[in-house]
Amino acid sequence: MLSLNDPLLLKTQLFINGEWVDGGSGSSFPIVDPATGLQICEMTSGNKNDVNFAVHCAQNAMQKWRQTTAKNRAEILKHWYALVMENIDDLALILSAEQGKPIAEAKGEIQYGAAYIEWFAEEAKRVYGDIIPSNNANQRLLTIKQPIGVVAAITPWNFPNAMITRKVAPALAAGCAVVVKPAEATPLSALALAELARRAGLPKGLFSIVVGVDAIEIGKALTDHSLVRKLSFTGSTKVGKLLIKQCADSVKKTSMELGGNAPFIVFEDADIDKAVQGAMASKFRNAGQTCVCANRFLVHSSIYQEFTDKFVEQAKKLKVGNGAKENVTVGPLINASAVQNVHSLVLDAQKNGAIKVMGGEATELGENFYLPTILTHVTPAMRIFNEEIFGPVAPIVAFDTEEQALELANATEAGLASYLYTQNYARIWRFSENLENGIVGVNEGIISSEVAPFGGIKESGNGREGSKYGIDDYVEIKYVCMGGI
Ligand code: NAP
Repeated sequence: MLSLNDPLLLKTQLFINGEWVDGGSGSSFPIVDPATGLQICEMTSGNKNDVNFAVHCAQNAMQKWRQTTAKNRAEILKHWYALVMENIDDLALILSAEQGKPIAEAKGEIQYGAAYIEWFAEEAKRVYGDIIPSNNANQRLLTIKQPIGVVAAITPWNFPNAMITRKVAPALAAGCAVVVKPAEATPLSALALAELARRAGLPKGLFSIVVGVDAIEIGKALTDHSLVRKLSFTGSTKVGKLLIKQCADSVKKTSMELGGNAPFIVFEDADIDKAVQGAMASKFRNAGQTCVCANRFLVHSSIYQEFTDKFVEQAKKLKVGNGAKENVTVGPLINASAVQNVHSLVLDAQKNGAIKVMGGEATELGENFYLPTILTHVTPAMRIFNEEIFGPVAPIVAFDTEEQALELANATEAGLASYLYTQNYARIWRFSENLENGIVGVNEGIISSEVAPFGGIKESGNGREGSKYGIDDYVEIKYVCMGGI
């Protein structure tokens, strides 16, 4: 049992129309700590009837909410932000238990997630329209931005808190209502956020959460519902493509934050110690389970050995274990099948000539753990170069010329994050412009913040979360033409 200061933050029911209710399926399922395999609690499972009711209530609630002033919405969001920060210790315990990341990282995620609530509380007041110079003397032209309607949000298990706030905060700020389906493995962080939003005074119906074991049924109910006008999804590219198709029938607006395959490029003129520091942060955070994790290290051949030696030296300092324990820096993967998938990529690389410098094996810690692993002599022919690893494995590829580095970096359908280490400012410009990614980190391994636009190009998705652009995904632009003037 989790030892929380406020045990009422641990919720095991759905949150619909401001009330805690049992799911319509009549069944329940266990939420399990991936580090210990122990059950945290039993969670009630929702179905399409719960979705339909939540959407109906959202539509009703939003009629009043959209008429409130931005200042009023901002005040409630700020109160929610304050409650999240007040309860950070409990929220981090819940997050670490259901997801596995170390407590310090879990606290980092709560702060990061809360920052989106605070940011969009402020941005609510800056949803400006335009006055357009008319080409007709008798007319005046203007635009206004209006809430898009009921929003559906489907989120993954790797950031159970922040992936919710990045969507819910801008939607509420814009005047919309939201129905969230969190990942089956990690609903507790989402439900605790809903409880805090309720305490912050958010009117009922504006933020509902439907959890369930049948993601296909719940997803279909959300995408089929005519009152849902927007779907914001974070997850795999495969499911994202499916949901875009499902949204086509009712022409819903979509935002897609999908998978990545980030190149991490280190040139011969880079500060190698800084590059290693960035590599450690980008690769091993959340045990390698982030969409912006460096997936392929492209290193100039003249510094290949030096970079590898220093990277291995640092990676050997990582402490793998139960994230609830002190000093642990790498927790478990989300489940045993994730471990098997990561291991199959390592085996395929080794079979095709990669050399394992460290890790790459099972540990007595349990079937959900995978040791930090570094592979050299990796080539584009290997699966690990082309697939998202989603685990603590760093494959290193050598290159000789700038052209070759760019070609290797862009040789993927994914286009989320990229990283570049060099001191040459002209090259920084060339690469920042020519890398096919939504985000470029230059001499920096940690790139995400609420003030900057987060999102991908190519098959990594569309739309941007955070920044002054983030609220655009939740509004429609209406053009008003005033004649007879
Ligand atoms: P996933 O399998 O696509 O699941 C994401 C969410 O979609 C979960 O809530 C899941 O529910 C749900 N889902 C699965 N199949 C569905 C269907 N047919 N209809 C409706 N919903 C469905 O992805 P994941 O393995 O949880 O997350 C990892 C992926 O997310 C990686 O590819 C990662 O790169 C990506 N990601 C991207 C970003 C970004 O900002 N670009 C951020 C974080 C993660 P259940 O879990 O209940 O099955």
